[in-house]
Amino acid sequence: MAVSKYYLGYKKLSKAVFEWQAADRTSLLASFMVMDVFSHWLWCLFVWYQRDVYSAFIDMSLLYSLWTGVTMVCVFLLWMSSRFSPAKNPHNNLYTWQAVLITVYSVYITFIIVILGYSSLVTGVSLLGSAMLGMLLIRRRYVWRAFLGQIIAILLVTLFPYCGITLPSLRQMSAITLPPSIHSYMTYSDMTIMKNEALNWEGINYLRQSSNILWRSTHMYMSLPKAIFIIYMFRTLLVVLDNSRKETLQHANQDELTQLKNRRYGLMQMKQALVTIEETQDISVILLDLDWFKEVNDNYGHDVGDQVLITVAQTLSQSLTDDMIVSRYGGEEFLIVLPDKSHASAMVIAEQLRRSIAENVITVDNQTTFTITASLGVYSLTYKECASLKQANRAAGKTETGCELDESQPTECYTESTFDNQTEFTQLSQDICQLLIGTADKALYEAKHRGRNQVVSANEMWAAGDHRINSLYGT
Ligand code: GH3
Ligand code: MG
Ligand code: MG
Repeated sequence: MAVSKYYLGYKKLSKAVFEWQAADRTSLLASFMVMDVFSHWLWCLFVWYQRDVYSAFIDMSLLYSLWTGVTMVCVFLLWMSSRFSPAKNPHNNLYTWQAVLITVYSVYITFIIVILGYSSLVTGVSLLGSAMLGMLLIRRRYVWRAFLGQIIAILLVTLFPYCGITLPSLRQMSAITLPPSIHSYMTYSDMTIMKNEALNWEGINYLRQSSNILWRSTHMYMSLPKAIFIIYMFRTLLVVLDNSRKETLQHANQDELTQLKNRRYGLMQMKQALVTIEETQDISVILLDLDWFKEVNDNYGHDVGDQVLITVAQTLSQSLTDDMIVSRYGGEEFLIVLPDKSHASAMVIAEQLRRSIAENVITVDNQTTFTITASLGVYSLTYKECASLKQANRAAGKTETGCELDESQPTECYTESTFDNQTEFTQLSQDICQLLIGTADKALYEAKHRGRNQVVSANEMWAAGDHRINSLYGT
């Protein structure tokens, strides 16, 4: 993939960071470095262009050397970012070139910081910016080493003047007297000016006030664009992390085929509903299983079977409101939890679902058509029964969790909100979930037994004295 020097859009950038080959990422880093070094080159051009004004305060011969050095580094980095780059050649050792790249840039930046007279703004931004970008794009251990090396170099450089070592600096005080028309230069240090006996204290103060412009604006010019870019990169990274977290949550919670909640998340939401349900609300559960589904697969193929599952899932989603929890419980089995629905309402909803599914005509290859039916088992707990179960559960002081959930996984993986009362949540859920689903399953089994394509109520079976549902509380 060709590397674009303007690869800065958020999506493209995140793609570059996470999906590009290591060689391309190395070239991209070199491209960013080119931009940085080129901005220094432009600064040199500006000072050269204004040399009549600045030659009194800037060592022009050093500027020419600096300009040459900047040009050479710029050419090297351009070469590294281009498609002729050794990093792009699979026969070259990519990691060696990464180390070369980061070393050249680190030495270069340290040199720039020194020669411009050490600005903490430029230093901080350059250190942070290069390290952040580098860590995103090339081997982190090289960047880490280069970062530490740069810190040590900068510390040493600040100590040099105290050891009598004079470092090259562009800032020169060659003025013998204060030029009246010039307001834009900054002294290298007070000591430099003090040595210049032609200047008195008044002159020094005047210099201090008036001369900051060039160097302050130089430091701003060399650090602010980079600082903005770093913040942009950081934001990009956070957005990417946020999106990938959402994606992970979605994968963990959603059934890929039907796009319904998966079994685990459906059960987790059922638990949450049980905890948060008000004391005057009934709760109902419908277990739905498609009839003769194996025959659909056998007669029309697995793909058609999948399509049927998707269609049924859509029918369920469209027929149910947001407060109802519908999940794919198993292969062709769906669990529907109806918080705040009495048994009578649940039976009406179940019958509507059965009819909607049965009325849905499925077409295969624009030729064959068929319909599918479903059997449904319904079970409801009145608020009184629910309250007494909760009471019994609390009295037993149970701490286990359940609903066949994988509790080894952190709760956060499956829910977007955490439960307020974790103890109550864990105590309550297992027995009530199992009771509701297990009893609805018995009614479902009975619906199959009675000939399928119908709704059977477990409550009615129990009222009729059916021995298979002999007790509400399983005792
Ligand atoms: P019954 O009326 O007794 O429920 O009969 P059935 O054929 O629906 O029940 P059975 O449990 O024998 O068959 C269920 C079939 O569902 C078996 C399996 O191949 C199929 N199945 C499970 N998951 C999927 C899936 O994701 N896609 C497809 N196409 N088929 C699936
Ligand atoms: Mg079935
Ligand atoms: Mg089944």
